[in-house]
Amino acid sequence: MSTCTSLRSLLNSTTLPQNEAKILLAYILEKYYQLPRSALLSRDEMTLSTPAFDEWQDLETRRCSGEPIAYLVGKRGFHNIELYVAPGVLIPRPETEILVEIALREIIKSSGEVKVLDLGTGSGAIALALAHSSQNALLTATDQSLEALEIAKRNAQELGLADRVQFLQGNWFAALNRSEAKNQFDLILSNPPYIAAGDRHLTEGDLRFEPSSALTDGANGLSCLENIISQADFYLKPDGLIALEHGFDQATAVMILMKMAQFQDIQVHQDLAGHPRATSGRKPRPE
Ligand code: GLN
Repeated sequence: MSTCTSLRSLLNSTTLPQNEAKILLAYILEKYYQLPRSALLSRDEMTLSTPAFDEWQDLETRRCSGEPIAYLVGKRGFHNIELYVAPGVLIPRPETEILVEIALREIIKSSGEVKVLDLGTGSGAIALALAHSSQNALLTATDQSLEALEIAKRNAQELGLADRVQFLQGNWFAALNRSEAKNQFDLILSNPPYIAAGDRHLTEGDLRFEPSSALTDGANGLSCLENIISQADFYLKPDGLIALEHGFDQATAVMILMKMAQFQDIQVHQDLAGHPRATSGRKPRPE
């Protein structure tokens, strides 16, 4: 194949699904020609320069061997924002938007500032979507991975939200100053690694390329959820809410853990596929 091949013939001859090929070609058009995706239609006779064509071939080959589209183009939409993503962070998923929606429902009930903690922020998805959607949300976002925090900070900068989110490094609550953070948060959110070690999903699709520390706890899938739930009460204000994402088959276990930790008003939230995907609970007010 040569560089004299038109966009239309590239699309006709690729072995990739059309929607994927179009995303990759749109990325090339933007990068090399500052053209919008619609140029795939309006300029379908156009041929690519040698560097643009070489990059297309490289992306096509890498996609054929399974690399996630989001890593190939370096971005993924989430809620109302677009995030830069790279192999150091989990690719944001639509089901995680449930946590953002739960948090926003809580934030609009309050007239003043709402302090939110996002544990294991990865690309910054949850924290930045909230900061973007609500002026009242004041975010603290943690991650154990310095690489993830670099990516999250870059996203905060690019979205103009750097002054609304404080990023801290550490393992779950260990990132915080324990005495200063006591009873401080109105909301605690997290999408922790909840896939059990050895689960076959870890060897399929995008997950093969994502950081395993963001996907699995290396145990039964519940250990990080349990760790977070058991410590959350200390950091929440009375009446504060905790909301956690979990696997489709973990809702009962998470509800039991929340009950054991004395949370009230425990609710399970479904994702778009109808799976129980997040559970929330409220810290009781003092008697
Ligand atoms: N939701 C992801 C998946 O199943 C897993 C992310 C996680 O463990 N937090 O693909």
